[in-house]
Amino acid sequence: MELPFAESWKIKMVEPIRKSTRAEREQWMKEAHYNVFQLKAEHVYIDCITDSGTGSMSDRQWAAMMMGDESYAGASSFFRLKDTITRLTGFEYVIPTHQGRAAENVLFSHMVKAGDVVPGNSHFDTTKGHIESRKAFALDCIIDEAKDTQLEHPFKGNVDPVKLEKALEQYGNKVPFIIVTITNNTAGGQPVSMQNLRDVRAIADRFGKFVIFDSARFAENAYFIKVREEGYADKTIKEIVKEMFSLADGMTMSAKKDGIVNMGGFIATRHESIYEGAKRFCIPFEGYLTYGGMNGRDMDALAVGLDENTEFDNLETRIKQVEYLAKRLDEYGIPYQRPAGGHAIFVDASKILTHVPKEQFPAQTLTVELYLEAGIRGCEIGYILADRDPVTRENRFGGLDLLRLAIPRRVYTNNHMDVIAVALKNVYDRRESITKGVRIVWETELMRHFTVQLEPVK
Ligand SMILES: *Cc1c(COP(=O)(O)O)cnc(C)c1O
Repeated sequence: MELPFAESWKIKMVEPIRKSTRAEREQWMKEAHYNVFQLKAEHVYIDCITDSGTGSMSDRQWAAMMMGDESYAGASSFFRLKDTITRLTGFEYVIPTHQGRAAENVLFSHMVKAGDVVPGNSHFDTTKGHIESRKAFALDCIIDEAKDTQLEHPFKGNVDPVKLEKALEQYGNKVPFIIVTITNNTAGGQPVSMQNLRDVRAIADRFGKFVIFDSARFAENAYFIKVREEGYADKTIKEIVKEMFSLADGMTMSAKKDGIVNMGGFIATRHESIYEGAKRFCIPFEGYLTYGGMNGRDMDALAVGLDENTEFDNLETRIKQVEYLAKRLDEYGIPYQRPAGGHAIFVDASKILTHVPKEQFPAQTLTVELYLEAGIRGCEIGYILADRDPVTRENRFGGLDLLRLAIPRRVYTNNHMDVIAVALKNVYDRRESITKGVRIVWETELMRHFTVQLEPVK
């Protein structure tokens, strides 16, 4: 008999988590104004609000922290990190930053100016924020297949080459670079194929443009290329990663994802000109060039994390857990963005809470219901996150309305996945009786989802 699949690690340290009663959760949710970002973490049983900075470090990473060199300038920790990044990506120039959005801030300060247009697959919200705050425009050129959650496509994160070419023809010298997000977080953690990266490179070359990868989940992307794309089954993850980055001019990285550290990020590039330009902004925003907002010990933990997470076994354990949860949801007929993404399941709330009008935010309502059901914290990726149109000030109801269940790396077991699946099933089973959602009581102009205050519609 074939042996079943099991994790590629064992557990050496544990952290207790606590269940609560429905009455407690109702009270806490009310105090949090029906916004899960306002909940205390100790009031959460299973936390799927994000996979960012929430992973478990390995014993090797903790050991590496002891070797941190906290010298202000020229720390050996920096060189260990830089050498690892260069070995994995081929990029010679590295600027550490305190997290991914800081890498965007530093790089875009050099590369993006007012009136520019930055095309890509779909921009992450902070990426879009850093483009729009410079009075430039983020242009999504994602394939249309990504918008249909029930359609199976192996690389739903792909750039549409026709849309990209049109954008480059239309905006010409207003385009400073093309940005490809691997995996495509906004589209549901969906991967981009090597062929698509090659196509983007060829188009960029034709128009003389740089290609930057927003690389937060580059290792998960490489895993999907290995298991889904023809010609890659026998390549190692490290070989695939090297080939992916050979098609880019540079990268921004949130190390809180595939670096498996709790805080950190960096910029890397093969071009001295990009490095020299970005460098000028690292010092005032982040710090001196050999630490850029990171402790020496954290750079060492990151160097080890990058190496570990570009090994097949580690990635297989991770992605199989996300797939496991997806299979459980399939058993109950719960609709989500198909196929399961690398880091999360995106539950299609608009297909579940069909009696809740969009003006009452179905995905946010489902997020609240799941918490009340079992203390599980997901995150709305829908109409609240979409903010209002900057001109009309109307809510933007054009996109998808999803409940994201992000799975932290190496943190929960499949027993926890079972709890999530059954809790969601219980809500799903009474979906016909949920006819009212939530309304906004107070909100900010930008990125309102973090602080918005809501109340149930009576
Ligand atoms: C998380 C993330 C960022 C921003 O990184 P932070 O570390 O949260 O600042 C940028 N792009 C993508 C694709 C991300 O997932």
